[in-house]
Amino acid sequence: MKLRVVVLGAGFGGLELSTLLSEALGEQLDLTLLDRNDSFFFGFSKLDVMFGKKAPNEVRLYYRNITKPGVQFRQEAITAIDPETRHVTTDKGTYKADVLVIALGADYDQAATPGLVEGGNEFYSFAGVERLREALPAFSKGHAIVGVTSSPFKCPPAPSEAALLLHDYLSSRGLRNDCQISLVIPFSNPIPPSPATSQALIAAFSERGINFVPHHLVRALDPARRVAILDDNSEMPYDLFLGVPKHQAPKVVAESGLTVDGWIPVDPKTLKTRFQNVYAVGDVTSMGMPKAGVFAESAARTVAAEIIAEVRGSEETAAYRGAGSCYVEFGEELVGRVDVEFLPGPPTGSFMEPSLELAAEKQGFGSTRRTRWFGL
Ligand SMILES: Cc1cc2nc3c(=O)[nH]c(=O)nc-3n(C[C@H](O)[C@H](O)[C@H](O)COP(=O)(O)OP(=O)(O)OC[C@H]3O[C@@H](n4cnc5c(N)ncnc54)[C@H](O)[C@@H]3O)c2cc1C
Repeated sequence: MKLRVVVLGAGFGGLELSTLLSEALGEQLDLTLLDRNDSFFFGFSKLDVMFGKKAPNEVRLYYRNITKPGVQFRQEAITAIDPETRHVTTDKGTYKADVLVIALGADYDQAATPGLVEGGNEFYSFAGVERLREALPAFSKGHAIVGVTSSPFKCPPAPSEAALLLHDYLSSRGLRNDCQISLVIPFSNPIPPSPATSQALIAAFSERGINFVPHHLVRALDPARRVAILDDNSEMPYDLFLGVPKHQAPKVVAESGLTVDGWIPVDPKTLKTRFQNVYAVGDVTSMGMPKAGVFAESAARTVAAEIIAEVRGSEETAAYRGAGSCYVEFGEELVGRVDVEFLPGPPTGSFMEPSLELAAEKQGFGSTRRTRWFGL
């Protein structure tokens, strides 16, 4: 009998899990990988699209390229999940799993921030960066704010990266002296688990004249007055607002009974949910570590090891350590790296100075996954 695995979501977590299970179990496996989209893109490629470095089509990796033993990709929207019976309903059919893995990521609720839709922009969705790519060339003077509206949010370094890359973008167009840039984030420093990375980022902001506003969220925009209203009711005038929208679990997950306080709780060592043979990985969980692809991927490795050990009747597997390496764009084509480990705690982080070598390493990170996951 083949093991019927249904993986919900073909992002970082779902792709890595499907790849590992296929490599280990091959034709013993009957894995269905479901996603509503026809293609995947790395979160970091959104910054490339927004600043016009890459065209939207260049960064899309099409799921139709997936050919792995035991794995079938289906482009379907998931409409209901029953974790008790491990039944999944989509817009095209139903699935019953022996093992169900939820890897549906985080969605955005732009309307939760008054004025954001009418008077600002978000750079976290693909549609958002496609719009900004068209809108940014019209910005030539005034105050640009990169602002976080709610926590938790994906990839904590991304707002800092956006501010630094905006500096480069405006400088290359000869407009930097006519523009101010502010960065509003809720933390006391840009990357709390790594003081060295935070210091390097704060130094980079200061060298480039970027106004760093820590400890704050942007609560609302008033488009008529062109002001951003922060969580202490102070106001900042803006001409361009680049926002990180409120995050939430996808509606189908919220309706499934799997969530507590908005996200799916899991056993931090095994990624098991409270339902038998139902796992959750990545941004959709309340693991307490940053919502980032590298953590979704390492969680998927732990789940794959659990499932493979179960099939083979082997010994206990290693506990999840919440470890990952994040590349951080510093501008001027330089990339730094922060290596962090969250479990068993307290979190530890180490920093590698920005360099062209790390920029090449980041390219390699993308291309190895492109090959592993899509055979491209
Ligand atoms: C600007 C930006 C920069 C980033 N940079 C980095 C970085 O440098 N490094 C890093 O590690 N992370 C980065 N991230 C974060 C990273 O993209 C996410 O944390 C990561 O993709 C999470 O993986 P996941 O598998 O949990 O979910 P996702 O990769 O988001 O995958 C979830 C999938 O579920 C699908 N889905 C959701 N609902 C449904 C439904 N109802 N039916 C069918 N399918 C559905 C979605 O289409 C999606 O493909 C960045 C994010 C942003 C926005």
